Amino acid sequence: MIYWDHAATTPPLEQVVDTMSEIMKMHYANPSALHRSGEAAGKLLKRAREVCAAALQVQPGEIVLTSGATESNNMAIKGAAMKYRSRGQHIITTGTEHPSVYECCKQLESLGWEVTYLPVDAEGIVDLAALAAAIRKDTVLVSIMHVNNEMGAISPLADIGRIVKERNPRTLLHVDGVQGFGKLPVELSAWQADLYSLSAHKFNGPRGMGLLYVKQGVQLFPILSGGSQESGHRAGTENVAGAVAMSKAMRLAQEGQPELHARLTEIRDILLREIRQIPGLELNSSERSAPHIVHFSCPGLKPEVMVHALEELGMLVSTKSACSSKLSEPSRVLLAMGKDAAHASSGIRISLGKEHQPEDAASLAQALRVVCGKLRPIMEREGQ
Ligand code: PLP
Repeated sequence: MIYWDHAATTPPLEQVVDTMSEIMKMHYANPSALHRSGEAAGKLLKRAREVCAAALQVQPGEIVLTSGATESNNMAIKGAAMKYRSRGQHIITTGTEHPSVYECCKQLESLGWEVTYLPVDAEGIVDLAALAAAIRKDTVLVSIMHVNNEMGAISPLADIGRIVKERNPRTLLHVDGVQGFGKLPVELSAWQADLYSLSAHKFNGPRGMGLLYVKQGVQLFPILSGGSQESGHRAGTENVAGAVAMSKAMRLAQEGQPELHARLTEIRDILLREIRQIPGLELNSSERSAPHIVHFSCPGLKPEVMVHALEELGMLVSTKSACSSKLSEPSRVLLAMGKDAAHASSGIRISLGKEHQPEDAASLAQALRVVCGKLRPIMEREGQ
């Protein structure tokens, strides 16, 4: 089997699993406890925060440890909306964000906030003129992702940051960085980002661990109330083992980013060339997309038929994003890119990771040719 679903989750590195297991066995004390075991756990947590901060070139006090990007996104968006309510109740995002951003905005809308969903172009890139026009005096937050989790579109974040701050210096910029970290350079200061979310399991770290970067001076209404952990941003006993394991994965991902980018670009380009030659398949991503995502539609075919047929040949791919792959509606992301229902309902995502080599692309391309050869009569019949 070759696993091609790294945008959904990545296999944790062996060092990460070993670190986590060792800390769970040896340093299980509560890091807030006053005794020496608690103090030792507290030191590990402090060091983990420093390593995460160094990987992002920010200060340790700007890192809030969370259970993952869903929590980080909720914390950033709802926390900023509530904290700065007296400044205004207008939020800007795009129609192609991950559900943990999109549904947050929908929820705030139902509570009285006004949300502008910016249009994207045929490649999924946000319309910068529409962004500039949408920012108002009462815009408290702009939330735009680094890399789209379905088709890999990369947001021009330096331009976005410049536009946001020129139009309204008090508007906060939140970046959902989940799909970009470890694959592309991350430049929070050049982007002028105030808030930035990550999930450790997307870069070979542990599941259930993430962080939110909160720029010094930015305040958030705490979504979770309780103890005073995480400088009051997030109540609850800290996951020391998860934090240390995440910090290790983060350091390794950041150090390996240039090499991984080069290798995945080579593999991705082979796949793009091959898919362009297979009748019936239509690419939705391109050489301009992130190096780890290749997305295509197979109009006329239910995507799960393609997923299972590829699985029979040892290739594990996905439809849409993992959290919405069991929903049968067309992809909201592809519809926003202007694709018709037949394209938006038949998307297949191939997502690459650390363990892939160029020869894996040849195996996948061969499997795609075999499957499409078999399924072509159905595609031709249903795709009319
Ligand atoms: N944001 C993006 C772009 C994602 O791809 C994901 C996960 O797929 C998330 C947020 C949510 O991450 P998690 O499920 O780890 O909370």
